[in-house]
Amino acid sequence: MTSVAPTPPSVTARVPAKVNLELLVGAPRSDGYHPLSTVFHAVRLYDEVTVTRAQEWGVSVTGSQSLGVPLDESNLALRAARRLAELGGVEDAVHISIHKDIPVAGGMAGGSADAAATLVACDALWGLALPRTQLDQAASELGSDVPFLLAGGTSMGSGRGEILAPVLARGTYHWVFALSEGGLSTPDVYAECDRLRAGRRIPDPTPSPEMMQALRSGDPRALGPALTNDLQAAAISLMPALGDVLDAGLEFGALGGVVSGSGPTVAFLAEDHESALDLAVSLTASGAVQDVRRATGPAHGAQVLGASRTA
Ligand code: ATP
Repeated sequence: MTSVAPTPPSVTARVPAKVNLELLVGAPRSDGYHPLSTVFHAVRLYDEVTVTRAQEWGVSVTGSQSLGVPLDESNLALRAARRLAELGGVEDAVHISIHKDIPVAGGMAGGSADAAATLVACDALWGLALPRTQLDQAASELGSDVPFLLAGGTSMGSGRGEILAPVLARGTYHWVFALSEGGLSTPDVYAECDRLRAGRRIPDPTPSPEMMQALRSGDPRALGPALTNDLQAAAISLMPALGDVLDAGLEFGALGGVVSGSGPTVAFLAEDHESALDLAVSLTASGAVQDVRRATGPAHGAQVLGASRTA
């Protein structure tokens, strides 16, 4: 006699945010996409996504960063659940509750993170146990940052960011994130980048030896000056206050600072836990930023939490 393992009524997955330690952007291709060479780094700033069997598909959002998250079919988590149902031949609906601590439209890939968490949570809820290659394929169809949020750690990304390759990275890094009021639209930032670089010859993006060496060394003093983002000038051009935030963080002792992805979150690297605390306090007191978060990296990718865990 065979027995079928009971599946749980709901599953929660936790997923980190990302920061791009290096983001090199090539000239736009004929299909409009920009070829990238990037180093993704997952940090311990998390969203939690709970999927629950339901009569109808739906999504709700709570948490410190819930403002501005769409609750309709454009929500990336909902799209991820529907895609996985299709792949697994599942006809049941789920309700998705997102507890959001990753800034929205902040350049930390919060939407992609929720999609990655939803993929692993629904896979567990429906007992699919899909092969990793199939989850990765679904992830890259949902968005170019989603495969990295499944993987976590520190990785190189090429193509549109969805082609991942391992990178030798040592150490734990202490980050302080300066959040700004309002988000920046990723397409707007790329368009501004193209405008600022018009007429210039743009080299094909390739990883810099400085970044690779810094990551191998595990030394934050080497990583600080190596942080690079080709979108930074465009983000500052659209939101000039970001220049002041960068100056303030460096003045307060950060080893390096960089706009995260398409911004407007600014990531500062600190020497250690104590320095990160000091930096966070100084940035908060300066009034130059809307909010401050501290997190270490690297972090694991999207992971299902233990069945007994409810909060
Ligand atoms: P990236 O760095 O990947 O370009 P981002 O961090 O700047 O993205 P996100 O927080 O991923 O920005 O959100 C970008 C847009 O995606 C939001 O403005 C929102 O309209 C939409 N979106 C869809 N689903 C989600 C979600 N689950 N969480 C947040 N935003 C979402």
